[in-house]
Amino acid sequence: MTAALRTTGLTAGYGDVAVVHDLDLEVHPGEIVALMGANGAGKTTALLTAAGALRPLGGDLEVLGTADPREDLRDRAARGLALLTDDRSVFRSLTTRENLRLGRGPMDLALAAFPELERLLDRPAGLLSGGEQQMLGLGRVLAARPKLLLADELSLGLAPIVVHRLLAAVRELADSGCAVLLVEQQVRLVLDVADRGYVLQRGRVALAGTGDELRRNRADIERSYLSVT
Ligand code: ATP
Repeated sequence: MTAALRTTGLTAGYGDVAVVHDLDLEVHPGEIVALMGANGAGKTTALLTAAGALRPLGGDLEVLGTADPREDLRDRAARGLALLTDDRSVFRSLTTRENLRLGRGPMDLALAAFPELERLLDRPAGLLSGGEQQMLGLGRVLAARPKLLLADELSLGLAPIVVHRLLAAVRELADSGCAVLLVEQQVRLVLDVADRGYVLQRGRVALAGTGDELRRNRADIERSYLSVT
């Protein structure tokens, strides 16, 4: 099967300083892939580079069947990529309704995924709780029916019960054929839904495996790779 996202020997970073080195990573339609690692390991940098928000410093990057290093985030979004950043990708001064209208998909689909947004439609997004904001950001993304979703720290600052809810929605999206890459520090949570995963350490893949393999080694992963960078 063709990968929705494939990096081969990808180097990524800022200016000419590389912080991700020689990254080989694949995400296929229908699967959730976890990208784990400690603070500063390079997860966000890898994600933003895949999205087109950062230019690769080297190596190859293929996104939804196209390997064009000049493409930016806007080009990729038009071809089916969705990016959810750790600021939750909502416009805080706009209402929930306005945020949903700015999305690429119909509002009803977002409301079907997260019915609690209905009573918040007229409220400025900045006044929503963290969990509600994340539902809004994710709801807008789900409604657009992306082919590839790249999400950064969905769980950041949220109660586990809310995170489970969000991850269940992401699982449904993947089951409908979307390829999903989830950047997470919270190994425990993300491994509940991941089909495969990679652990980054100081910008390199230290460990990769199936969800089952990684779940079996979870304590070891947390101890060995997540405490220091
Ligand atoms: P976190 O969980 O803290 O987001 P991460 O694994 O996502 O960690 P990155 O944010 O990708 O890590 O950061 C990797 C390295 O790149 C870090 O050393 C960081 O200081 C550096 N870095 C991040 N953003 C920039 C930037 N805009 N300019 C220069 N260096 C940066």
